[in-house]
Amino acid sequence: MDAAWLVPAALGFGLAVGIGGSAAVVVAHSRGQRAAAVVTPTVPDGVEQVVDALDNAGIVLDSSNNVVSFSPAAVILGLVWNGALVHPELVALVDRVRTAGEPAGEELELPRGPFGEARLQLAVRAAPIGSRFVLVLVDDRTEAHRLEEVRRDFVANISHELKTPIGAIGLLAEAIGSAADEPDDVRRFATRLAIESERLRSLTQEIIELSRLQSADALENAERVSVDSVIARAVDANRVAAESHRITLVAQTDPDAVAWGDESMLVTAVHNLIANAIQYSPDGTRVGIGALHRDGAIEIAVTDQGVGIPEAERERVFERFFRLDNARSRQTGGTGLGLAIVKHVVQNHGGEVRVWSQQGHGSTFTIRLPQAPEAAAVPSRGART
Ligand code: ADP
Repeated sequence: MDAAWLVPAALGFGLAVGIGGSAAVVVAHSRGQRAAAVVTPTVPDGVEQVVDALDNAGIVLDSSNNVVSFSPAAVILGLVWNGALVHPELVALVDRVRTAGEPAGEELELPRGPFGEARLQLAVRAAPIGSRFVLVLVDDRTEAHRLEEVRRDFVANISHELKTPIGAIGLLAEAIGSAADEPDDVRRFATRLAIESERLRSLTQEIIELSRLQSADALENAERVSVDSVIARAVDANRVAAESHRITLVAQTDPDAVAWGDESMLVTAVHNLIANAIQYSPDGTRVGIGALHRDGAIEIAVTDQGVGIPEAERERVFERFFRLDNARSRQTGGTGLGLAIVKHVVQNHGGEVRVWSQQGHGSTFTIRLPQAPEAAAVPSRGART
């Protein structure tokens, strides 16, 4: 071929390819726009208003499982976060309902928060709305399950613990009767009688506290709680005890640490940790209380320079009525319920409590809670009523 033809031929070919390519891009773009309009339709009329008015958790999902509408309870229960369902079990139910095209229900036990062992007992029902949406309705049955459990083991646990001081009081009363002519003995027995009755009083008080905690849901009337204020109140309540043992309480605060829950319950938990730190430390030592927030979590740590806890017993200290050293605990009026109360409070808040300890050197108890959602993101119950 003549080389003179090559240049115009190549130019012509290039032009044709360019025009063809551009046309293809324009057509694809307009098709894409039409497709996008089809796959992102709006929620059918009225559905959003109904979901918003629900007292229970209600969630509407589109065909890609994006949450397009939800009731406040769905956020309070921690089912929805960042426009998606949090629990894969719920996603699986939604997918099943979408595939089958008909409603389905399930009883699910789901984690309450990102940490810890607390669980939610939920009755979930999902139903397709039209061809693209799925409505999920959730009834929180955690409370009913919890009450059932409390009823089951409460009596078994306390009867044994109550028998000990009651038996001692009976024996001491008898001893006083038969030592009527020995004033010194009577005084000695009377002192012990007072100790045993004080023990009975604090035991009864803690049992009531624990049963109240087990039957109450901390997140029922939850609000944003400043962790600094929780620590300040817990430290104040322990100041006299600390001073009597020349123990210095050092608090390190974090104004941005905000929890979601019940302030007085959280004060009780931190108070119990500080009280233990004082109780199980030698005089003249330091107890540190620190707060911090990171990665959506809040940590409150109570550190002492006390006797420590042997490794084998570290997890057991949270059990009800468990005392590491009966003699020392008894001497200090310990009931073995303080840490069980801490554990319940923390679990009720969807968190966890951990212990680090080195025998003879000290212990650190760390409470970890989910950070409260931003004030603007929290749908207030009051606002809806
Ligand atoms: P108690 O009323 O006996 O203190 P708790 O439930 O508060 O009951 O604690 C259970 C046991 O754990 C205690 O008897 C004690 O032996 C141990 N314990 C708790 N806190 C500490 C601590 N800070 N240092 C050492 N031992 C501790």
